Amino acid sequence: MKTCPRCDSSLDDEARYCVECGTPQTEDAADELNEFVQRQAQQVAAESEGGVDGDEDGGSGFVPTEELTDREQLWRRGCYVLGYGTIVVALTLVQNNPLSALPLILAGIAILPPIRRLTAEPLGSPLKREVMAGIYAVFALIGIALFVLLG
Ligand SMILES: [Zn+2]
Repeated sequence: MKTCPRCDSSLDDEARYCVECGTPQTEDAADELNEFVQRQAQQVAAESEGGVDGDEDGGSGFVPTEELTDREQLWRRGCYVLGYGTIVVALTLVQNNPLSALPLILAGIAILPPIRRLTAEPLGSPLKREVMAGIYAVFALIGIALFVLLG
């Protein structure tokens, strides 16, 4: 027997999750849970973007989504291209115009899909794509403005 580190329930040695509080008992189980939560968050985001009334808590009715929709994949690819492209451009400016390079780098990073996924950690569900695109636009505009003003 072992005990759950969180709630001290007695657990079977083989238990992957605590039967009382659900805390993962092995690293594998923790990873699995993490993936599950991320997929769920993505699905909730996809649903609210697809025009289905946004279910903010995203709790019940979990259906695993094996594949991203075409639109989602296209968006992801676009975000990567835009993000990396912006960062590459910013890096060429670092030498001569570091003040404009910095916001551009931030913009490029912000638009990368993994960053959006990271926002699920503190917020419960990832920020909407439109929000990330907005953040990108703001930083990119600041970078361009600084480039024009100082360049
Ligand atoms: Zn427990």
